[in-house]
Amino acid sequence: MIKEDISNIEMLNVGLVGHIDHGKTTLLSRLTGKFTDTHSEELKRGITIKLGYADTILKSEKEGKKRYVSFVDAPGHEMLMATMLSGAAIIDAAILVIAANEGIKPQTQEHLMALQAKNIKQIIIIQNKIDLVDKHEAKRNYDKIKDFVKGTVAENSPIIPVSAQQDVNINKVKEILLNLKIPERDSGDPIFLVARSFDINKPGTKVKELHGGILGGILKQGKIKVGDTIEIKPGITQKKANQLIYKTIQTKITSIQRGKYNIKEACPGGSLAIETELDPVLTKADSLSGCVASFENKLPEISDKIKIKFNLFEKVLGTEKHEEVQPLKTNENILLSINTSITVGQTIKIKEQEVELNLRIPIVPLKGENIGIARNINNHWRLIGFGEII
Ligand code: GDP
Ligand code: MG
Repeated sequence: MIKEDISNIEMLNVGLVGHIDHGKTTLLSRLTGKFTDTHSEELKRGITIKLGYADTILKSEKEGKKRYVSFVDAPGHEMLMATMLSGAAIIDAAILVIAANEGIKPQTQEHLMALQAKNIKQIIIIQNKIDLVDKHEAKRNYDKIKDFVKGTVAENSPIIPVSAQQDVNINKVKEILLNLKIPERDSGDPIFLVARSFDINKPGTKVKELHGGILGGILKQGKIKVGDTIEIKPGITQKKANQLIYKTIQTKITSIQRGKYNIKEACPGGSLAIETELDPVLTKADSLSGCVASFENKLPEISDKIKIKFNLFEKVLGTEKHEEVQPLKTNENILLSINTSITVGQTIKIKEQEVELNLRIPIVPLKGENIGIARNINNHWRLIGFGEII
């Protein structure tokens, strides 16, 4: 554990997107010196999303700049990608990786459209695997990328030729990251999204030395500090007479960890591990993942009915042939990514751009929360639009 206090260092949150195998994870390991563990546990228990985070502190000796950069690696599954861009992560900027030898692929398109829909304007395009192409091919690929981004949010984004594998031009990428703008954070009461929860005690630990339950996740807004009392919803799940009952829990924060640093106070972004006074039995094996935490009495009541304002794309993304997105129908089952959960919703009432839904699992309906909407098309969940809880 490193003692340096990084509570007040500026934080930049960067999403890594791009077609599978184009080199996102390799680039990330170059930028941070570590590998993310994205794909192994993505859909554990069917509802919870595991995003791969990797953090690093970037420094520029020349300008005396220093910032903490938290990267979130795009999950392989397209629905999880939508999640990453909707509720489950804070994204100030994105790196779009395109392999020079393969060019624009369906996921490249889908991800750029999602960035566009989310209005993420700071985008760095990485023309990766430059070691695999000759000069002519590199130029041709560059022209195609230029064509592809024309008229989109990425129209004026820098395109950096890189070989993540051979460590070519990585410093250039770091330099750009050090100079991106950091937007102002939402203040107000904290909203902490629990992505995982665990018990870190080894069997046989003495009672006096036991650690409390740990919550891993991201702080979307506000600040939390050691000593704060928090409330967690939906909380503990109990089965009573074949019905699931949810019980809100309260606890106190005893320590906060960001990457390998212990901090006293956390501001939004990146991923955090919060140690609490909870009995670790309550947090083991991700039992609280998908929950939301804030101060006491600050969260809305949980609900299995929500109303959202939505916007559908014109075309279905992520497929070779771009068929048109058909309007939502009543009684249709769609997949929604909300906070750190994915849940099925059944459309009840649709009026223009608003829809009421019955959810299979209750959620904490935070107003204004972004939601990714997917429809099953030929046995694939395809991102068809975005919504917002109203
Ligand atoms: P991801 O699916 O986008 O995360 O891609 P990965 O980072 O897992 O990379 C996919 C494959 O491409 C791996 O075998 C990497 O070693 C390889 N790769 C990544 N970057 C480069 C590069 O710059 N040049 C070459 N030749 N191979 C690369
Ligand atoms: Mg990867």
